[in-house]
Amino acid sequence: MCNACPDASLSRRKVLLAGAGLLAAPFARMAQAQPAAAASTPDAALNLLIEGNARYVANQPREHDFSAARASRVQGQAPFAAILGCADSRVAPELAFDQSPGDLFVVRVAGNFVTPEGLASLEFGAAVLGTKLIMVLGHSKCGAVNATVTALQKGNTLPGHIADLVRAMKPGIEPVLKQSGDDLEQRAVIANVRYNAQRLQHAKPILAEMIAKNEVRVVGAVYDLATGKVTLV
Ligand SMILES: [Zn+2]
Repeated sequence: MCNACPDASLSRRKVLLAGAGLLAAPFARMAQAQPAAAASTPDAALNLLIEGNARYVANQPREHDFSAARASRVQGQAPFAAILGCADSRVAPELAFDQSPGDLFVVRVAGNFVTPEGLASLEFGAAVLGTKLIMVLGHSKCGAVNATVTALQKGNTLPGHIADLVRAMKPGIEPVLKQSGDDLEQRAVIANVRYNAQRLQHAKPILAEMIAKNEVRVVGAVYDLATGKVTLV
């Protein structure tokens, strides 16, 4: 979103003022300090991610000078896309999409599912920072998904708070267990991504409203550990 555009400023101010002080004054100050984002529409943001992933897969990343823009980043941020990704150490969104600091607003939790706090973060990204796209990014061989599948199949309880992951992921994954077909693990990964993308699409009031106005788009995707390729699902 262009900070110099009056319409964009008005629209953002409107969001900031909405909801009886939902977003407080300090957030408004942060929003005013934003630089221009790299993409002005959801489709443009998706294209940037697709192009960046192609560079990553080909092992031809852009040259990143992390110190060059450090001073300007102090003034604010305008990430063009948000990623709800897994905590898995092998799936780093900034690397997988060949992006620089300031480009992506990333929420990570094992199993890449929507939590209240994660949703709040994504709302902040969209309404205040101007992210145009939210990608729910699952991946092959996901330990959290596999643990959930196994726990649901065997009825066992995982130790400590790990059991909370299974409880949270159960609604998205359980239907897959009742379907026939090969590669249950991968089907569960895709089902989990789609379920959580749907949750974000219908998340009222902020995301659902912005999606209806085509200000934000939610997509689901899966990262393949073997190739590094991200495929929309
Ligand atoms: Zn995972």
